[in-house]
Amino acid sequence: MPAVSSEFHTIDRSQVDLDMAMNTPGDLDAWRDLPALQQPEWDDPAEVRAVVEELAKQPPLVFAGECDQLKARLGEVARGEAFVLQGGDCAETFEGSNADAVKNKLKTLLQMAVVLTYAASVPVVKIGRMAGQFAKPRSKPSEVRDGLELPAYRGDAVNGFDFTPDARRNDPWRLLKAYHCSAVTLNLCRAFTKGGYADLRQVHAWNRDFVAQSPAGRRYEQLAGEIDRALTFMKACGANPDEFHGVEFYSSHEALLLEYERALTRVDSLSGLPYDVSAHLVWLGERTRQLDGAHVEFLRHIRNPIAVKLGPTTSADDALALIDRLDPDREPGRLSFITRMGAGRIREALPPLIEKVERSGARVAWICDPMHGNTFEAPSGHKTRRFDAVLDEVTGFFEVHRALGTHPGGIHIEFTGDDVTECVGGGHQIEEDDLHQRYETACDPRLNRGQSLDLAFMVAELYRETH
Ligand code: PEP
Ligand code: MN
Repeated sequence: MPAVSSEFHTIDRSQVDLDMAMNTPGDLDAWRDLPALQQPEWDDPAEVRAVVEELAKQPPLVFAGECDQLKARLGEVARGEAFVLQGGDCAETFEGSNADAVKNKLKTLLQMAVVLTYAASVPVVKIGRMAGQFAKPRSKPSEVRDGLELPAYRGDAVNGFDFTPDARRNDPWRLLKAYHCSAVTLNLCRAFTKGGYADLRQVHAWNRDFVAQSPAGRRYEQLAGEIDRALTFMKACGANPDEFHGVEFYSSHEALLLEYERALTRVDSLSGLPYDVSAHLVWLGERTRQLDGAHVEFLRHIRNPIAVKLGPTTSADDALALIDRLDPDREPGRLSFITRMGAGRIREALPPLIEKVERSGARVAWICDPMHGNTFEAPSGHKTRRFDAVLDEVTGFFEVHRALGTHPGGIHIEFTGDDVTECVGGGHQIEEDDLHQRYETACDPRLNRGQSLDLAFMVAELYRETH
């Protein structure tokens, strides 16, 4: 692996040409000649140019060395030695970039990770769907309410959630605000995960506000007690407890808005290779993974670890073609596939993909998104998901991998640290009639804290049974 530094310089055309001449992964702007789906239409190109220029001057949010470290961790996942926990909001909001919301989300992620690490005895790679998840692909370009038609909400990076003509107008300056909110959120995450809050000796503290009010919280408290005893034992044996002071945490989001991702791509000064410094990992969604499309072309040229969502219509040949384009060197950890088949489809749809990909010699990490294939509309009109369907898809994922002798590499979920009522079922028995009580998502329905912890316990059990 080449040495990497934490310094970057802003990229310009001559640098790109130099890279090409030096036979490094080439043209960061080739995507501009290809069809790019799901890009917002902006009123004024000059304004977009001004924003992009401003973005290109901003410091990196992540460093190349960190991206390489995540790639190495995902390589361990691809080899069957670790498990990914990736999660966060469907759509982050500018309003949600505050200390309480970020802390609650991170706390829930840490609790889930501890459950998985301890109960499944596997190293957990913690990746937030956080600090950059501000743009959404949409199935329809507009939305109609009471006869009024307005542009669809495309995430806070593009327009506003409120159903008014003013809010729904695409505003390129929001891209800059998305960068700043990402910086604020990532800074908090770095402080929480390195500054003592994520210390394993704090396992009880993360649960303090939760233990009394929920069965999942009580179950967690028991496990935290066992961890305490294990830590005391290890200390008595001479281990240094300071080794548990912090955790590795990585950021990720969907690479949807190509102008934004391009403006935040920098050539690392030591290795001379381009990295998208907006997040450690970026992924392509189910709607923008066309082989001859702009998104795949852009991702080919950045050296971050990357992922692609695969829905139920994906053929094994599609998966192979994506590997050839995005991971031609078959580098473990470079490419992860996040499958989102739906509980009813996964047991038939996943095996042919895994079989062909494994036969090709590629080493991808297989991650299960049990959310996006299981969305439906409740009679009240709320978009929701059943906890049981989420669990069923994860169970199917483990069954398939067990039957094939391959590694179930992780889960990708939409969750929040707050006690929302967006998904039905789970420990709290949220019914379809309860959805209105705390339905706060800006896009898809998220698991609440109790549902997330319940899921972690169940996934840990599935993992133990498989290994
Ligand atoms: C998402 O992750 O929010 C999403 C839109 O997923 P997908 O691309 O799998 O539909
Ligand atoms: Mn979503």
